[in-house]
Amino acid sequence: MTFDVKLEKLSGHNKSGVVGRVYKIEGDTVKVGEELFDIEAKKGNFTVTSDVEGKIVKIKVNQGDKVSIGDVLFTVEGEKASNKEGDTDKKQGFNYMANFLKPQKESIDKDLVIIGGGPGGYVAAIEAAKNGLNVVVIEKENLGGTCLNWGCIPTKALVRSSEVYELVKNSEEYGIFKSSPSFDFSKIMERKNNVVSELVGGIDYLLSKNNVTVFKGIGEILDKNTVFVKEKNKEITISTKNIIIATGSKPFVPSIKGIESKNILTSKEMLGLNELPKKIVIVGGGVIGMEFAFICNALDTDVSVVEFADDILVALDEDVRNEIRQIAIEKGIKVYTSSKVEEIIDTEEGKTVVMFDKDGKKGYIASDKVLMSVGRVPFYGDIDLEKLGIELNERPRGIKVNSKLQTTIDNIYAIGDVTNIIQLAHVASHQGIVAVENILGKDVDAEYSTVPSAIFTNPEIASVGITEKYANEKGISVNVGTFPFGANGKALTLGERRGFVKIITEEATGVILGGSIIGPHATDLIHEITVAIKNKLTAEQVINTIHAHPTTAEAIHEALLATTPKGAIHFAE
Ligand code: FAD
Repeated sequence: MTFDVKLEKLSGHNKSGVVGRVYKIEGDTVKVGEELFDIEAKKGNFTVTSDVEGKIVKIKVNQGDKVSIGDVLFTVEGEKASNKEGDTDKKQGFNYMANFLKPQKESIDKDLVIIGGGPGGYVAAIEAAKNGLNVVVIEKENLGGTCLNWGCIPTKALVRSSEVYELVKNSEEYGIFKSSPSFDFSKIMERKNNVVSELVGGIDYLLSKNNVTVFKGIGEILDKNTVFVKEKNKEITISTKNIIIATGSKPFVPSIKGIESKNILTSKEMLGLNELPKKIVIVGGGVIGMEFAFICNALDTDVSVVEFADDILVALDEDVRNEIRQIAIEKGIKVYTSSKVEEIIDTEEGKTVVMFDKDGKKGYIASDKVLMSVGRVPFYGDIDLEKLGIELNERPRGIKVNSKLQTTIDNIYAIGDVTNIIQLAHVASHQGIVAVENILGKDVDAEYSTVPSAIFTNPEIASVGITEKYANEKGISVNVGTFPFGANGKALTLGERRGFVKIITEEATGVILGGSIIGPHATDLIHEITVAIKNKLTAEQVINTIHAHPTTAEAIHEALLATTPKGAIHFAE
């Protein structure tokens, strides 16, 4: 059933106000009592909370919009809304189905309960079910977790839209003429939402096909063999042999003066915007910050990145960083490094100024919105870890696990961002599979030496294994081979000649130890190097493997040749 939710009342005698912080985005689920919007009015602010339960299908107002009593704020698809007994009329304009149901209590037995349905939890569930275990997944919001709903997938859908727009703007280079290209941001977001919905629906289907029971609610661990969940009007107590905690992470919000400004956004709020800001400051030049910087820049937003460290994307080798920083600056992204944000100040005109210190001098940037992307911290799902005896690591903070992914309670495992080992979706999934294999009685260790990382800037960046910097620091004697995409036929046909492939091999043996790629298809190409490192292949073995022409993969072949005394065939300095 679909409900139109109207603004029914405001504080004092206000008849209208301005929408402040919007706590939810389209596609979110909402529970009774959850905060939805702040409405700022002359006679005081007012927070609209929900009296319905369901999925938000449409948010009809944006931050900054003027709204009056009676306006429709959002549409929610829900099955029921409960309320105080007898209070069946409309409150805040919500429609009520007045049936007030007594909770039904249920007790079930399972082999495995997984709390959290992100890429850690749902992959573990499918793996366990395929191996004959009787599995429950408990998810409090949307299946797919951060990755599918507010992370990897929606950002990459936006990356694609921004790339297409950029390509159209530069189409004359390809002999294609299109006058005054433009975009409709609401259509871009609609496409993003459709991609997310399709994939989330796919997870739902896969879990049901594998006979995994899914409960929508907050999972609570009562003791090492009992989990409780309340789903709608059902209270379910699950006796289980094993538990996996896969509750993910949440954005870290630093305690900077003025951080409560309504123009401060996290990545989740950024993905729920109905309108693109004309000017944005991104605090944090890590992966999430730089992906948004390239997306917004391509969509004609004025972007400034303020980074505390002395460079953006600090985990990368220096030459790769130099290349992406240079490209960012050429595209018009302003990059302020070694800059510490000290204060955020709202102006009378509704703008926000970020004040930062760089080498003892103050800098000020005014913008419409500020994206805080300074890292993510584990989210423990409100589980009382201390009571259960589950310990945390000191630094970085996260649930302490051994290489089998067992916590300090041997039948309770933890996987994914909540362990804070490497915050990547594919690591969460890998950990999920390792945890399940150990539950099944196999003796398997999680192994992180060949985790590829992918950064969806334009051009893309990917890396795996060791960096040249690491080899130097550890005194490992290596050969380094590089090959520029400017000398690769396929890259030239694509019109994407920036970037290079860099490969590191052990000097004594030629075994491939690491690789970085910046350029077209980098995030796909990295897997050739990943497979080589994982299987301890030498440069010679991969060089002797024929690579198809014309492909960007030939740049890997050539970079490997460049690690040998012969050098690359298609490039000479
Ligand atoms: P999550 O995906 O966070 O899932 C945890 C789930 O647990 C959530 O759905 C939550 O609702 C649920 N939950 C929590 N507590 C409870 C409870 N008590 N009861 C029931 N349910 C509960 N990674 C990549 O590899 N590639 C990328 O391109 C990429 N891009 C990203 C872009 C952004 C903007 C962000 C924010 C992240 C990105 N990541 C990316 C990181 C990736 O999203 C995470 O590493 C990944 O989602 C972690 O998976 P997880 O299963 O550990 O946790």
